[in-house]
Amino acid sequence: LINNIKNGVLSLFFPTPCASCGRYIKDFTYLYVCPECYGKTQKLEGHLCSVCMKPLQAGYLNRCGDCEREKRHFTCVAPAGVYQGAIKELIHRLKFYNRKKIAALLAEFILENVMDSAVRWADVIVPVPLSKKVLGERGYNQTALIGKILADRYGIEFSEPVRKARETEPQNKLERKERLTNLKGAYKMEEGVSVSGKKVLVVDDVYTTGTTLNEMAIVLIESGAKEVRGIMAARSV
Ligand SMILES: [Zn+2]
Ligand SMILES: [Zn+2]
Repeated sequence: LINNIKNGVLSLFFPTPCASCGRYIKDFTYLYVCPECYGKTQKLEGHLCSVCMKPLQAGYLNRCGDCEREKRHFTCVAPAGVYQGAIKELIHRLKFYNRKKIAALLAEFILENVMDSAVRWADVIVPVPLSKKVLGERGYNQTALIGKILADRYGIEFSEPVRKARETEPQNKLERKERLTNLKGAYKMEEGVSVSGKKVLVVDDVYTTGTTLNEMAIVLIESGAKEVRGIMAARSV
C-alpha cells in the first residue's frame, strides 16, 4: 500500500508514459514500462531449435537452418523471453539512456524465466565485452551489470576474460551476410587469464543471429574452455 501511494504521488509530479503502451505509469516496479506490459512479455514456446531456440515450423526438425548452415561453437542458449514489447524497451533504455537500474530488472527477468539449472551449470559467467570507445561513451557494460547479478545470486565466478579488440558496425544495421563477417576476429582473450577446462556461460542482452556469441565461443574454446553456452534477456524471433 505504501508503495502504491508513493507511486501514485510520484506519478502526479513526474508523469511518465510507459515506453511500450504510452499510458501513464502508476506503478514504477518496472521502471519505464507499466506492470501490464511487463506481464505481457512472451516466452519462447512451441517447438524450438535445440541450439539457438529459434521457433521451428516443422516438428520433425531438431535444428534451424541457421544452425545447420553455420558452425556453432556454443552448445545452446537460454533466452528469458521474446525480444518485443516491454523487454525490448527496457533493453533499449539500458543501452542508450544510462539506466543501470534496468540491469537489475533484466537480471530478475532472467532469473524468473530461465531454469535454475541453466545458470548453475556454469563454472564462470562472462559478459560480452564492449570496445574501448563504446565503453568510454556509455560508461558501463550493460551485459557485465546483468552478469554480475546472476553470478552473485548463484555464487558463481564472474570474469571478463575477453576483450573487444576493434570497433565494429552495430550488428542490427547490417545485412545478414555482413553480420557474419563484421565480427570476425573482433574478440581476443585478455593476457594472463584462463578459462581452461571451464564451462563458460556468456551473458548478452539480446540474441539476434548468434554471431556475437559464436565469435565469443571461438576464442573461449580456443583458449581451453570446456564448453560455451549463452544466456540472455531476450531473443528476436
Ligand atoms: Zn504499458
Ligand atoms: Zn538454431
